[in-house]
Amino acid sequence: MFSPQTIKKDFPIFTYHPARNATHSVAGGPDLVYLDSAATTLKPRVVIEAEKEYLEHYSANIARGLYPLAEKATEKFEMVREKVSTFIGAESAKEIIFTSGTTDSLNLAARLLASRLEAGDTIITTAMEHHSNFLPWKELAKKNGLHFRVIPLTEKGTIDIEILKNTIDERTKIVAFSAVSNVLGTINPVKEITTLIKNINPSTIVVIDAAQAVSHMPIDVSEWNADFVAFSGHKMFGPTGVGILYGKSSLLNTLSPVTFGGGMVIDACADETVYKEAPYRFEAGTPNIGGIIALGTAIDYMKSIGMENIQKYEHTLTVYALNRLRETFGENIHIIGPTYPEKQSGIIAFTLSTIHPHDIAATLGEHDICVRAGEHCASPLHKSLGLHATTRISFSIYNSKKDIDKCIAILEEIQTMFSK
Ligand code: PMP
Repeated sequence: MFSPQTIKKDFPIFTYHPARNATHSVAGGPDLVYLDSAATTLKPRVVIEAEKEYLEHYSANIARGLYPLAEKATEKFEMVREKVSTFIGAESAKEIIFTSGTTDSLNLAARLLASRLEAGDTIITTAMEHHSNFLPWKELAKKNGLHFRVIPLTEKGTIDIEILKNTIDERTKIVAFSAVSNVLGTINPVKEITTLIKNINPSTIVVIDAAQAVSHMPIDVSEWNADFVAFSGHKMFGPTGVGILYGKSSLLNTLSPVTFGGGMVIDACADETVYKEAPYRFEAGTPNIGGIIALGTAIDYMKSIGMENIQKYEHTLTVYALNRLRETFGENIHIIGPTYPEKQSGIIAFTLSTIHPHDIAATLGEHDICVRAGEHCASPLHKSLGLHATTRISFSIYNSKKDIDKCIAILEEIQTMFSK
């Protein structure tokens, strides 16, 4: 197991020294307690350096130039496709489409699938989805006269499998659900759910939102047997503006592009266009080259620590935090996740007494403790729980039990302050 103290040294944000007279840091520093990795992870120095190196030393466009700089950029860029493919257990690098993030990936999946749908078909999603895995499907359904079904959750914050089973039929074309909920922290058994769906209707396309899974546990998209899998680079120690849409080759090769422009055609004239094969036909225009190259470095970084180690370590933090929160606040805290740690990743959302989550987050912020408050882009989930907002803490490899203790100590002060 690694030590968070050593890991912290890899992240320049913790070594930044804020101005002496600053009351709290607005630019990181050694006292920073960052408990918002579900929003975005911090970036290790190697990732920052990789992007900088591209920008400073070989910032040519890819797949066009025949001079050495452009060839180097293209080679580095395509190596990342290979890296991503191996990292997530895809069968081929041709299954990896670069996008600008999970939101872009899921919207792309929805647009790619639109031509396969007919009025009266059904799209299914769940009540735990982030808006990115809810709204594109809802809009697609609305525009095409489809049924849009939202599977409710059990009291334990898991997908109600019985209801899902009874909802799928021969008109079910797409089922979209997340691998890990960004609010409840629920780890869904993706392989089992996909098998269940395909046993009932083998032609159903299964779309997985893996935004909260990829940097926290080993994943294997081939074992999942999902058709599409979406995730973001910035939640896996990489830069913002970079995402992935994995698509099974057998599916991608049957789909037509929906965005048109440079880099995706073999030949074009007024009468006829010959598109490149997948994934290139889905990548019109110049991508975020430096960001994608740096994402490759982020993957190397995670691999050097080991995904099993990351998962185990974050699990110990989750168990510790759940226990300490319950011990400290008893009945005053309402944790909305499954709360049995084997089903819960390092995301814990809660309400504390009647204190507004915004007050909690703002006060913690004054103590250099970063958490998120609100609906976390999961309005349907909060509505289903009758809540307007929750406070969310989320972990990554640079967190320690000390961070949790510090957060809980300030939460106790907040409780006292707001009960006066
Ligand atoms: N899905 C989930 C589960 C998420 O947590 C997020 C980000 N909070 C998204 C989708 C959207 O990711 P992005 O903003 O990077 O597109």
